[in-house]
Amino acid sequence: MGKCRVCGKSSIYISDGLGICLNCIRDRWEEVEPLVKAVHRRAREKFNLPAEVPRDGQHPCTECGNECKIKTIGYCGLKYVESGKLKKRDGLLEWYYDPLPTNCVAAFTCAATGCGYPKYSRTNGVEYGYKNLAIFYTACSFNCLFCQNWHFRVCNPRPITPEELAQKVDPRTACICYFGGDPGPQFIHSIKTSELAIKHGTRVCWETNGNLNPSLLERAFELALESGGTIKFDLKAYDERVALTLCGVSNRRTLDNFKRIGERFNERPVPPPVVASTLLVPGYIDEHEVEQIARFIAGIDPRIPYSLLAFYPQFQMDDLPTTPRELALRAYEVTKSVGLVNVHIGNIHLLW
Ligand code: SF4
Ligand code: SF4
Ligand SMILES: [Zn+2]
Repeated sequence: MGKCRVCGKSSIYISDGLGICLNCIRDRWEEVEPLVKAVHRRAREKFNLPAEVPRDGQHPCTECGNECKIKTIGYCGLKYVESGKLKKRDGLLEWYYDPLPTNCVAAFTCAATGCGYPKYSRTNGVEYGYKNLAIFYTACSFNCLFCQNWHFRVCNPRPITPEELAQKVDPRTACICYFGGDPGPQFIHSIKTSELAIKHGTRVCWETNGNLNPSLLERAFELALESGGTIKFDLKAYDERVALTLCGVSNRRTLDNFKRIGERFNERPVPPPVVASTLLVPGYIDEHEVEQIARFIAGIDPRIPYSLLAFYPQFQMDDLPTTPRELALRAYEVTKSVGLVNVHIGNIHLLW
């Protein structure tokens, strides 16, 4: 049972890791904003990461959508200034093979179901006997308080080059998925790896918060289109205040990027080149938030697949319950009522 430090309300749907309720985020933002900033600062200083996106330095970085102006270190922790020059750590990731079908967010609708056969799928049905090369980048451009993979912050992998990584694609590797953390702060690395890897006939897919450099995203989209892959956008919130509270960074670039790519859905509708998902964080992502996201998607192209994902308590929000079944069903109904045609509920084993 958490308590809101603004209105005093108590509920199992208020996380003490944040200490603010959804109504106060929406209705009392001026009081809430400094509290939100302090929560993110505390969560990041444990990992020696800057509290906010730096805007006052002389060294611009544009690899992801944050567009830091760096004095000492970028928001992701990978770019830093040394002897007056901007430097970067790159190729920081963990990789492994995952047999298909995976629990990938788009696995209900992507080429691994066989829907791209024979051009993009290996089999006329689920690609049993083939595998996915999972590439987990260990940095991020957001600071989600519910991060489901927060341990990337304490990983210390040996850097690996795109050439070395592309060699992990063998004849049974039907697809690559770049995720993390987020691929955004190492996006160039993922694109170089993809340019080499697709020559071996593998699909390339990205799972991302969407806070990306738009030109690099266009290149990634071309590679996904050509290979049969999918770009999976995690649309965490629609309301910018909710996004800033939960993720520490605005969602405006994510929404712009999603629109830019979603408008090209028709270039290859099967298998879908773009898929959206939203984590149903109880108490914070309610059906109103889902309705706004779903309307946004439907306004771009109602065929874009959308996955509603059940939440598991993690990181700063480990005191929340998992997603109630009732919320998932209400959210599902709302997505259908605004016209989306391909909606899925993921992680159903977590519903209660
Ligand atoms: S990586 Fe791409 S093709 Fe493979 S299972 Fe995930 S979405 Fe499907
Ligand atoms: S990759 Fe993104 S978060 Fe990292 S320094 Fe560059 S702009 Fe900032
Ligand atoms: Zn409140």
